[in-house]
Amino acid sequence: MKIHEYQAKDILARYGVPVQPGKVAQTPDEAETIARELGEPVVIKAQVYVGGRGKAGGIQFGDTPEEARDAAARVLGMGIKGLIVEKVLVTPKVDIKEEYYLGITLDRKTQAPVVMVSVAGGIDIEEVAEKTPEKIIKQPIDMRWGLRTFEALDILTRAGFPSYVLRQSAAILVSLAKAFIESDASLTEINPLAYTADGKVLAADGKIVIDDNGLFRQKEYATWAEPEEANPLEYEAKKEGLTYVKLDGNVGIIGNGAGLVMTTLDMVARSGGKPANFLDIGGGAKAEVMYKSLTFVARDPQVKGILVNIFGGITRGEEVAKGVIMAQKELPAGLPIVVRLSGTGAEEGRALLKDAGLDWGTNMRDASEKIVAAIAQTEKGQ
Ligand code: GDP
Ligand code: MN
Repeated sequence: MKIHEYQAKDILARYGVPVQPGKVAQTPDEAETIARELGEPVVIKAQVYVGGRGKAGGIQFGDTPEEARDAAARVLGMGIKGLIVEKVLVTPKVDIKEEYYLGITLDRKTQAPVVMVSVAGGIDIEEVAEKTPEKIIKQPIDMRWGLRTFEALDILTRAGFPSYVLRQSAAILVSLAKAFIESDASLTEINPLAYTADGKVLAADGKIVIDDNGLFRQKEYATWAEPEEANPLEYEAKKEGLTYVKLDGNVGIIGNGAGLVMTTLDMVARSGGKPANFLDIGGGAKAEVMYKSLTFVARDPQVKGILVNIFGGITRGEEVAKGVIMAQKELPAGLPIVVRLSGTGAEEGRALLKDAGLDWGTNMRDASEKIVAAIAQTEKGQ
């Protein structure tokens, strides 16, 4: 379960990590009032469940309460990676001299939490991880005793943290590890860990992901869940009775049966594409379900083409074809759709598709390759 920055900072503060005070606003008026109470220049920070807010314009400054109000007006309602900003954190602006990175995540290989630290913190940490991974120092935590101060000092020294931030950073890292373990987190991160002009070290940003399987004992944090904010499409899908999981690619995928849909995801990946979602229409679906599924998948702005893979049985090919044809009229013009039908009613279904001018694949591989090629073609055209 994801939580917001202000909630992550609330948890971190309980473990002794220095953070700026701050309050959440839902309107520009509220932001102005908070800024006036704080009585100093502020940062207005979008509270959405994605990173990279700075680059997206979701972090803005206001030197006066009036400017804070304007900044909040710009950030509230803004869309960041498909999420709409409903709340902003209003917090005193700090004079940052240097930015470091501290993170803890679960490492599947060692089956232990692993600490990651870097002196190259800030908004480009992903690029650092990709291009100069040697700048990120990693060290597993022994769950028998957690992270101890001498280990934290050692890791930070190896990462090149300067002496003037070493002690404070080590104390923060130890606290971060304690928070990670005690809150059943799968990720805790401070980026940037800021070194300020007045010589303080503090968490200027905080991110915590709580393991869903730990929520039964993390009762307070469980009440912070905002499923609608965390994943609006999955939330809508559930309301509409669709078995849908959002993924990160651009190939929309619909099939019948969880096994077949997963195989389709693999096949698309093997064909060089990236699945945008998992959607299982289940058994015996009629044209309406197909129609609803297609229009739903197309709502994801990342989707650039859709692959429908149906193994006919109690689900009939003609019904699938009818549903696709119905949906096609409402989908964005030029959005490629490839259908693969086999089994009951496949012949009849393909005849309907042909009449409607729709493309199909002779088998799953052929259909995967076709949709990936069609998307590449449209992207080239743009
Ligand atoms: P993210 O982009 O979602 O990770 O949001 P952050 O909270 O990490 O903010 C992004 C960047 O904005 C930081 O790396 C800082 O450079 C800058 N920033 C955020 N808060 C402050 C602040 O209080 N003072 C200054 N000077 N810069 C800030
Ligand atoms: Mn950050």
